[in-house]
Amino acid sequence: MQTTDVLIIGAGMAGASAAYFLAPHCRVLVLERESQPGYHATGRSAAMYVETYGNATVRAITGASRSFFFNPPAGFADHPLVVERGALIAGAAADQDALRATWHDMRRQVPSVQWWTQADILQRVPVLHPEFAVGGIFEPEAMDLDVHAIHQGFLRGAKAAGAQLRCDAGVSQISRSADGWRVATAAGDFAAAVLVNAAGAWCDQLAQLAGVAAVGLQPRRRTAFTCDAPAGCDSSAWPLVMDAQESFYFKPDAGLLLMSPANQDPVAAQDVQPEELDVAIAVDRIETATTLRIRQVRRKWAGLRSFVADKTPVAGFSPDAPGFFWLAGQGGYGIQTAPALGELTATLVLGRPLPPSLAAQGFCAVEVAAGRSGLLAGLSG
Ligand SMILES: Cc1cc2nc3c(=O)[nH]c(=O)nc-3n(C[C@H](O)[C@H](O)[C@H](O)COP(=O)(O)OP(=O)(O)OC[C@H]3O[C@@H](n4cnc5c(N)ncnc54)[C@H](O)[C@@H]3O)c2cc1C
Repeated sequence: MQTTDVLIIGAGMAGASAAYFLAPHCRVLVLERESQPGYHATGRSAAMYVETYGNATVRAITGASRSFFFNPPAGFADHPLVVERGALIAGAAADQDALRATWHDMRRQVPSVQWWTQADILQRVPVLHPEFAVGGIFEPEAMDLDVHAIHQGFLRGAKAAGAQLRCDAGVSQISRSADGWRVATAAGDFAAAVLVNAAGAWCDQLAQLAGVAAVGLQPRRRTAFTCDAPAGCDSSAWPLVMDAQESFYFKPDAGLLLMSPANQDPVAAQDVQPEELDVAIAVDRIETATTLRIRQVRRKWAGLRSFVADKTPVAGFSPDAPGFFWLAGQGGYGIQTAPALGELTATLVLGRPLPPSLAAQGFCAVEVAAGRSGLLAGLSG
């Protein structure tokens, strides 16, 4: 039995970021079921930082993560973590009133968000059919994130500060002890005073193993694929383009186009695979709205975005199980919120004050607490 201060279950973006911020202060051991960390949701994202995305709490956590991405600590990565991209929500005539209202709302939080006319949109993304691009919202500060560099930076930094990572160490049993938690895995048994549940789509299952009340996590499948960029036009500077109903998006991706039907189908936690139908739906919607013709899908995949009822992450100790810390429900925002959520996890585990980056956003830890009313309402409903 190896004993440590904090055991983290899951080495995706959530577990890696928590380990990074905890490791300088205590002994940390990360347990990962797969042979490669990042195999699940973390390795399957669209890699975007969009500050206006999600509810007010998500936007605050995203905003608090911004400076980390732009100015990471020395040695975190050997190249920039963000690349300028921009994000455009384009709409038809019928969408204009709703889009303008959304734009006014977004501007209060991110003043640089712009209203684009049809001419603006078609100049930047000429493949859109004019009737689908009557006007729209452009967020110039939306960024492409280097997910691999961010994830590896967290893991490398955690290890440099003394954290250990065990892969092929799926947790199969969890029990309470007098002084914390005991965990049985394929790689041996471990004990710690604090257990951080960062198992992504499997967080409720881990809680069940530990005899802790679930938070009502729902994994939702999202499908994505890449295809060739159109010949004869330079698409590399296109922003991410989404329609007003969020029924598709596409963006440049390493010389190709990345596309998605923006689906969110409820499924059980699993190594989720893409459905042919989802790809066909995306192709149909994108070909209807643009002059793009998608002849060949290069690579397709699906991943799980896991939400609780109020679509807000859960980061806090379980109210009825001392030492059991939730880091779950990051939904479609788990990359762009990772620095602030990881730092928040460390401060809550260590009993320290809120990180200044979050305090500056007016954020309060109760918004993500495991016992909050929005969560309990979702569970009973
Ligand atoms: C198609 C798609 C597009 C997305 N686009 C974006 C985006 O543009 N921007 C953004 O910010 N977010 C995006 N997301 C969301 C983001 O990817 C997730 O929120 C984030 O990766 C969640 O990280 P995680 O560490 O919680 O989960 P995961 O990466 O799934 O990690 C959880 C880990 O726990 C491990 N685990 C589970 N059970 C056990 C066990 N019993 N024992 C040991 N280990 C276990 C798993 O093996 C896994 O490695 C997207 C997601 C998808 C699917």
